[in-house]
Amino acid sequence: MNITSTTLPAAKNYIQGNFQENTSRSMDVISPIDGSTISSVPLSDKAVLDEAVQAAKTAFKDWSNQTIKDRVQVFYKFRTLLEENIEEIANLVCKENGKIYGEAEAEVLKGIELCEFACSIPQLLNDEIMEVSKGVECRTSHAPLGVVASISPFNFPFMVPLWTIPNALVLGNCMILKPSELVPLSAQRIAELLKEAGLPDGVFNIVNGDKEIVEAICDHPDIEAVSFVGSTRVAKIAYRRATSNLKRCLALGGAKNHLIVLSDANPEISAANIAASMSGCAGQRCMAASAMVAVGEVDHIIKQICDESRKIVPGENLGSVISKEAKERIERYITEAELAGAKVLVDGRNATVAGKEGGFYVGPTVIDYVTPDMAIAKEEVFGPVLAIMRTDDLDEAIRIENNSNYGNASSVFTQSGGLANYVIERVSAGMVGVNIGVPVPREPFSFGGWNESRFGAGDITGKSSIHFWTKMKKTTSKWNPEAWTDWAS
Ligand code: NAD
Repeated sequence: MNITSTTLPAAKNYIQGNFQENTSRSMDVISPIDGSTISSVPLSDKAVLDEAVQAAKTAFKDWSNQTIKDRVQVFYKFRTLLEENIEEIANLVCKENGKIYGEAEAEVLKGIELCEFACSIPQLLNDEIMEVSKGVECRTSHAPLGVVASISPFNFPFMVPLWTIPNALVLGNCMILKPSELVPLSAQRIAELLKEAGLPDGVFNIVNGDKEIVEAICDHPDIEAVSFVGSTRVAKIAYRRATSNLKRCLALGGAKNHLIVLSDANPEISAANIAASMSGCAGQRCMAASAMVAVGEVDHIIKQICDESRKIVPGENLGSVISKEAKERIERYITEAELAGAKVLVDGRNATVAGKEGGFYVGPTVIDYVTPDMAIAKEEVFGPVLAIMRTDDLDEAIRIENNSNYGNASSVFTQSGGLANYVIERVSAGMVGVNIGVPVPREPFSFGGWNESRFGAGDITGKSSIHFWTKMKKTTSKWNPEAWTDWAS
């Protein structure tokens, strides 16, 4: 794919190792950097999904029959290809998603780390074997599920698909990926590079589309498991629909991450981390700092957060948000909070970038004196906006955090180990940070939130994902004729 040109090739469905000419309706792919149309994406119908599932079912016979040690060889090669193509992939991510180059590069590097974890799975499987009674042996083995599906959001077009592809495939499954229709192009490179790495045709397939394909995936009788990442509203729809069809499902949803900042926190470290967490990837991270609860006298830290935020400039070290609608939604939250009495300390509304006037930019925004009942305090804004609430009581700060419907991440900023532990034990979030704005667990630690940030059991990455992508067989064997026949025989 030549990504130096303004217009990129149309995204295509990828089935049985081939990119298919599109015969269905399609929609434009818009670059949020400047609002220009850069490509198009098919909005496929169920017949395309049927074809992809059939290809995956056929490929499953041979792929699942290989040993895991053989299957990981593809991902060693794929990892090398990612390293060799990092710049080109990162530029593609920038173009379709709008993030800045360093963020896109970090996304690809994280993809490489995810491949490394997948390559370590043979070392981690640790099936058990034991003589459970004289001459009788029990052993476990992990079997793949069959055809599985992965549905991804717009905010990490390259990394989020790699949360699922390497682990699911290494464990012997065949997959249908449904990328976000807003950013379908990075996934095309994943398919190309997997093929180059030697993945057999049909093991990995892409079906582009919208709601209709997600519903068809959740209903398809030959898809065994569905992994979903996106907003809580749609995660609930996908989880309910897939599980009502008796499928295994893990659906990761949205977030409203709280940072509890105590007056003894290191001002420099806190301000730098909080501003970066709030604005990184234009606030479009499910791990972004969104609500800050200032406990006691922290004016000096808030001032430094504002100073740091003013150094963040749209089009330079801050990318665009995904769409015109997203920009309008984010700015509406800010205006409504202001009208309700909050004080906008740093205002990112009406941001433009010279030469890219058609782009969708929101500058970093810090809003003080937000109250817990305001929409901006409760709902996911998904933009570079920090809503600050104030209290003098740490337990009240924890109550505010606990009252959130979400539970992806939460961080505490303090220099006291005792207070940090007090907060860690009481916050209701799956991923917790101390003096860190984006507490993403790196591999081999797994990624997953609580409450309405995740539906289903386990985490999407790490060891936990091994359980999701496999079913365990328990085999009991008796070979010696003299062994007793008893209640367990
Ligand atoms: P989204 O929910 O709009 O879309 C996600 C996927 O669902 C896309 O592939 C889309 O085509 C499909 N979809 C959209 N509407 C649908 C409907 N009505 N029925 C069925 N399918 C539908 O999410 P998004 O806007 O692409 O991504 C941003 C959201 O994802 C944020 O809420 C963010 O917090 C969340 N997210 C969560 C995590 C996590 O780990 N918890 C990670 C990344 C993103």
